[in-house]
Amino acid sequence: MEFDGSVLIRCTDATKMSKFVFGPHKGAKHKLRMTLHCQKCYVVLGDSFDICGEIKYMDSIMCLRVTDDVAVNDAMERRQKGEMSDCIYSLLNCRGCQSSVGRVIHSAPARLGAVRSIFLLSKADISCYILNSSSMVDASTLKFDVKSLKDSISEVKKQFEEHQDRMSRLKIRLANMNL
Ligand SMILES: [Zn+2]
Repeated sequence: MEFDGSVLIRCTDATKMSKFVFGPHKGAKHKLRMTLHCQKCYVVLGDSFDICGEIKYMDSIMCLRVTDDVAVNDAMERRQKGEMSDCIYSLLNCRGCQSSVGRVIHSAPARLGAVRSIFLLSKADISCYILNSSSMVDASTLKFDVKSLKDSISEVKKQFEEHQDRMSRLKIRLANMNL
């Protein structure tokens, strides 16, 4: 949807979103800021500050936190087969319309350790209100990739080394000034 001043109209032009990038990508002109909504009743379920990536094979957005309008189902489920085999998880429901919006994994084998206790919102059930463009789009049309931790660490390391170089040069200049 797009806000035209009075009503929200659905945004169908996917290319409009191409100039936006989610996450801390270097060189990105705009970072995508958004709120996550239930696709059926548009209740707010989360926002981009708490998104920490996506799991493609589960078609889910990973969130550190969600709003109180996400209810964690009391019943725990266990899957025997597929990607989530040996996982114990609870389904997440929207409090606005009771529809299923994802799951939270309580216990998982080591291969899925990264998603333990992370809220996984199903992209198929989520709409995103993009603050940058004031438009509503289906989550399935967006990518929620964030840089891998390794990339982030090497970037910080590089910045630290550059800073250290500058400090050494400054130290030499000060020493040469014979203060
Ligand atoms: Zn809902």
